[in-house]
Amino acid sequence: MKVLVINAGSSSLKYQLIDMDKQSVLAKGLCERIGIEGSNLQHTNVGADSKTKIEKPMKDHGDAIQMVIDALVDEKIGVIKSMDEIGAVGHRVVHGAEEFANSCLITEAVMKALEKCTPLAPLHNPPNIIGINACTKIMPNVPQVAVFDTAFHQTMPAKAFMYALPYECYEKDRIRKYGFHGTSHKYVSQEAAKFLGKAPEDLKIITCHLGNGSSISAVDGGKCVDTSMGFTPLDGVPMGTRTGSMDPAVVTYLLNKGMTAAEVDNLMNKKSGVQGVSGVSSDFRDLSAASKEGNKRAQLALDMFTYQVKKYIGSYAAAMGGVDAVVFTAGVGENDAATRKAVTDGLGFMGIAVDDEKNNTRGTVDITADGASVKTLVIPTNEELMIAIDTKKIVEG
Ligand code: ADP
Repeated sequence: MKVLVINAGSSSLKYQLIDMDKQSVLAKGLCERIGIEGSNLQHTNVGADSKTKIEKPMKDHGDAIQMVIDALVDEKIGVIKSMDEIGAVGHRVVHGAEEFANSCLITEAVMKALEKCTPLAPLHNPPNIIGINACTKIMPNVPQVAVFDTAFHQTMPAKAFMYALPYECYEKDRIRKYGFHGTSHKYVSQEAAKFLGKAPEDLKIITCHLGNGSSISAVDGGKCVDTSMGFTPLDGVPMGTRTGSMDPAVVTYLLNKGMTAAEVDNLMNKKSGVQGVSGVSSDFRDLSAASKEGNKRAQLALDMFTYQVKKYIGSYAAAMGGVDAVVFTAGVGENDAATRKAVTDGLGFMGIAVDDEKNNTRGTVDITADGASVKTLVIPTNEELMIAIDTKKIVEG
């Protein structure tokens, strides 16, 4: 079966066509500036290693999906002969709230339930829904599946997901920890179990998705029991431009000083994190280059980040009563050996230690130092493949 994976944002749409028989990507690409002047499609035919950029107005996501299909079936740049070859479409959906603990086949009832989740992700869910509706229109007979960023975390126990606010805040306003990056945490924890040749049920794993946005999860017996992101993706460790956790009273203090709610929101999401602290960049490569040149605030930002990740590893090991493996993934986790080293440094007391030489290799790799009792692994994430795997499973019943 060939599965088309769609990740629709407000003005962009990413896609991959995956051949599930070989689990290989046939084509991938990106529509940019949907509904804005300068719309374009960047399409890669993976087998032919050819890239094409097509500039054409796209007034909405419907136009974008039609262009994607046209590119996929195109004689020159395409990879399939007709749309009929697409067996199913898998959509990334950011927020499934408590309505969705698993990926699911899209039906009218599901679309109604999805609308109910929208207030919790007002920026992200609407484009996801628009993407689904556009596909329904263009490919009415192709089954579609929704795969949620939050679903993997729905197994967290109440003691982990509740905030100590009055209980009505949870009951009436649905305020609780949801967690995000679930598709990535699910994928790398499953891959880690495969890599170690063990059943997920027999493992306690801490997955560290460290990218521009970062989150850490505790996965016990294949199920998520805690995660660092919360009601929104602002919680947890400091990120590229997001604060991560801090005393919530900072918010009321800033509001009382005269900032508007929108200004505080912008400050905490777009101007904070390692970018805000360093004044240099949100990109870890820039930070380490600046630090090497003696920039103290760049080094401080890196230290704050690695310190918090380290604390999550310690606390999640305590929460699970042990840990068998720590997994690093995403842009920073996969590529930044110095950050992996700094995060794990000093954790020898709990059996975590990294071998410097192995730590400098790339790809899926065991970087555990000789004699350490906890495995430390680097596993490249693949959210699109995870979406396609779930999609195929559900469509085939
Ligand atoms: P997103 O959260 O946007 O999906 P990614 O997981 O792709 O982000 O991570 C992007 C980040 O990864 C970049 O901002 C950069 O900080 C970091 N990164 C990528 N390559 C490297 C590298 N070689 N060394 C250090 N950091 C890297």
